[in-house]
Amino acid sequence: MMSLGIQRNDQVVVIAGKDRDLKKQRRVLSVDAEKGRVLVEHVHVIKKNVRPNPQRNIKGGIAEQEAPVHISNVQLVCPNCGPTRVGHKLEGDKKVRVCKKCGNEIATKGKKK
Ligand SMILES: [Zn+2]
Repeated sequence: MMSLGIQRNDQVVVIAGKDRDLKKQRRVLSVDAEKGRVLVEHVHVIKKNVRPNPQRNIKGGIAEQEAPVHISNVQLVCPNCGPTRVGHKLEGDKKVRVCKKCGNEIATKGKKK
C-alpha cells in the first residue's frame, strides 16, 4: 500500500478547494489510501437525506456529514513550522515521517493498523 504521509488524527490545513483555510488546523477523521482521499473534520460538509429508521432511533431528515477530499488538497502541520510536506526516513527498522522543512519527526497519533 502506498504511504500517503497523512494518517488518522493528524492535524492538517486545507490548501485547496472551497474550504481552503491555511490558518485553521483541522483533524483527519479517516484516510482512504486506495482512493487517495481523506475525511477532514468540518471540511467539505455535505447535506445528506436520512431516512427515518425507528428501530435505530433515527428520525430522518437532513443530516450534515463530511465528504472526502483529495489528499492533495490538504497539508500536514508540523508542530514547529506549520503546514509542510512530509518526508520519510528510516529509524532503525522503522519508517518515520519527517517534516521536509525542519527534519523533525512527526509523531503518529492514531493507532497503527
Ligand atoms: Zn517542521
